[in-house]
Amino acid sequence: MNGPRTYLDYNATAPLRPEARAAMLSALDLHGNASSVHAEGRRARQTIEAARVELGRLAGAPARDVIFTSGATEAANQVLSGPWRAILVSAVEHPAVIAAAKRNGAEVIVVPVDHLGLVAGDALATQLDRLSGAQGLRGEDILVAVQQANNETGVVQPIAEIAEIVAGQGARLMVDAVQAAGRIAIAASERRPDYVVLSSHKIGGPLGAGALIAREGAPLTPLLTGGGQERGRRAGTENVAAIAGFGAAAAAAVRDLATEPMRLEHLRDRLETELAVAAPDMVVIGRQAQRLCNTTLVALAGAPAETAVIALDLAGVAASAGAACSSGKTARSPVLAAMGIDDDIARCAVRFSLGWASKMDDVSRAAEAWQRVDRIRGSARQVA
Ligand code: PLP
Repeated sequence: MNGPRTYLDYNATAPLRPEARAAMLSALDLHGNASSVHAEGRRARQTIEAARVELGRLAGAPARDVIFTSGATEAANQVLSGPWRAILVSAVEHPAVIAAAKRNGAEVIVVPVDHLGLVAGDALATQLDRLSGAQGLRGEDILVAVQQANNETGVVQPIAEIAEIVAGQGARLMVDAVQAAGRIAIAASERRPDYVVLSSHKIGGPLGAGALIAREGAPLTPLLTGGGQERGRRAGTENVAAIAGFGAAAAAAVRDLATEPMRLEHLRDRLETELAVAAPDMVVIGRQAQRLCNTTLVALAGAPAETAVIALDLAGVAASAGAACSSGKTARSPVLAAMGIDDDIARCAVRFSLGWASKMDDVSRAAEAWQRVDRIRGSARQVA
């Protein structure tokens, strides 16, 4: 397909924002090591510290709490490798969180979600009571990990309420705000969690950069040891250009927070309306919950997601089959399973996710391409 492409897969990775590109290009010419005392080193240091301020603003946290990492996966692994005796994770966490929790060796408890994908606050409270009561664990030995918004469905968790429950037991809270960043105010600005993890490439920064925002005093074990970079919290010479790009993307996300969510929600709602015109029996998963402004997960029973995504791609539209963070996998989504979504619907779930460069034209092209998906379904039925 040689015509214009429509990219609607921002939850997998967003195109680089022009501001991030410009910041990276000028940082690439800085050749100093940020730990060196000479002028070249100091310029690299200033670039990193300026980006740290931007990340602090995005997360509603002081800049000193920001630790730059290679991505959200590393940031989550750092928190989850801590000396916890029990880790509670919601059933809809990203694999980066669930896999790291399982590797810790601590007792891992999966907290269920309801049919909308919302964490059951009472189940969380009961588990915390059990751990501190019968098992006699101290609050500070327990980590609770709950994402702010889901990458597949866009469903937003009631983080303030969860933070109350966790704080009530003196346990620690980690919030994966990767998908929330730039779309809603980050949990850190409501009731600050102990840890927030962020990813650069989801907000229009470069791949390979992320941040862990660790509240002063929250326990922290370095994952990488060596030099004293990041105040001893993450060793290794800093990737100045990537950090500069991440900082610029964060600044743009903060700047646009007052207007961009409304614009995206309008486009997303229009997309859902137009898709439903093409196929009225389409299901929108998680629609009754509060969702991110940019995400829709839709399913046409009888049109398997992998086939649908290929048909869309051939028509010039990039979308993804359910959880496309690790694209290519065709296994049933654990997120949709946890929500109790029927298999017939779950295996047909296609995610469209919009972002800073999305326009109404993209919506129209996606809706037009969706007709192909409906036709595939028709022919699949005739064959069957
Ligand atoms: N958490 C969520 C909710 C995600 O969507 C992703 C995406 O891959 C990650 C964590 C991991 O982020 P990164 O690619 O920066 O390691």
